[in-house]
Amino acid sequence: MVNYIGVGDARRIVNEVGPAVFIARLAGEIAADFRRWPEFEKSSRLASHSLVGVIELMPATDGRLYSFKYVNGHPKNTAKGLLTVTAFGVLADVDTGYPLLVSELTVMTALRTAATSALAAQKLARPDSRVMALIGNGAQSEFQAMAFHRMCGIRDLRVYDVDPQATAKLVRNLAAMPELADLRVVPTHSAAEACAGADIVTTVTADKCNAVVLTPSMIAPGMHINGVGGDCPGKTELHADILRLPDLRVVVEFEPQSRIEGEIQQMPADYPVIELAQILRGEALARRSDSEITLFDSVGFALEDYATLRYLHALVTQQRLGGRDLDLVPVLDDPKDLFGGTLAGPRGVARPRKRKTA
Ligand code: NAD
Repeated sequence: MVNYIGVGDARRIVNEVGPAVFIARLAGEIAADFRRWPEFEKSSRLASHSLVGVIELMPATDGRLYSFKYVNGHPKNTAKGLLTVTAFGVLADVDTGYPLLVSELTVMTALRTAATSALAAQKLARPDSRVMALIGNGAQSEFQAMAFHRMCGIRDLRVYDVDPQATAKLVRNLAAMPELADLRVVPTHSAAEACAGADIVTTVTADKCNAVVLTPSMIAPGMHINGVGGDCPGKTELHADILRLPDLRVVVEFEPQSRIEGEIQQMPADYPVIELAQILRGEALARRSDSEITLFDSVGFALEDYATLRYLHALVTQQRLGGRDLDLVPVLDDPKDLFGGTLAGPRGVARPRKRKTA
């Protein structure tokens, strides 16, 4: 049987340990897979663009397990009462090609994105960072706040969104979490106000355009920028002059994909970047001085979803946490008798019914 994790199962699995602990554990799994970087067959995701959004397929494999994620990005969806980003994914056994797990990945994407952001920030931000600006207070924002509080020691959060209701929602949700009792959350009136005095700036806005959420005047020496919302061609958050700042170090997930989708799409093809795997594998230095500005130009890479699905599969099979069986692949006595074993056989769904006699 194929395992299935729906939204309700995901809620149970994550709440069993608590979302912040889950994010930290997931970050460990993601880091472990990034350290095995050369073992993976990697490719940029396949994107199908429309006027209002994008639908993407994201595959990854290490030759033992194969995964893919279906994910969309539709910034105008919230006006219709729908999420901007939804996702689901599959983990399969490479030896047989059989699917092992089908999982919701909408909640999991928020968790893995926050985990990857905080993982990168652990390496790139100044270790004494305590203040973070969080610009864009929609669906991803609570997850980012939890990850940076737990994994990076953030204790002051300065939040801003063009939609004050989104900020009010974020403030309300964070205030209801006992584990965030020592997190001070301050709503602000502009991105510039949020950034003033921040050690880390996270941008996680959604708009299908080259937005200018951050300008060079908002950036101070020593800052770490966690740019999450610029993740599609023609969809960026940073003024291009930030990318031209002299003391800037830019880290991406998978360079070929980030050149198309990240903030660096605004720069020439030879613009220097470092891949996160190089840093996690000790092949490149992370932050080189307290005054250096660092940017994690995140777009989301298939390896993060591979790690998430691999971790979930281990949780449901080894620890029997949540999850259900999904009747997705036929189980046959004779694998060459698909017809007999399904439509016409003893388990047949299309067997001719006996006529009732009066
Ligand atoms: P969302 O629509 O729920 O929230 C986005 C918020 O941004 C909204 O509240 C909106 O009002 C706000 N916003 C838009 N423009 C703004 C601006 N100029 N200044 C301040 N706030 C602004 O979307 P979400 O699910 O939270 O996703 C946010 C972004 O993150 C999207 O662009 C999405 O594509 C991206 N994302 C990236 C990754 C990754 O791995 N890098 C993963 C998931 C989502």
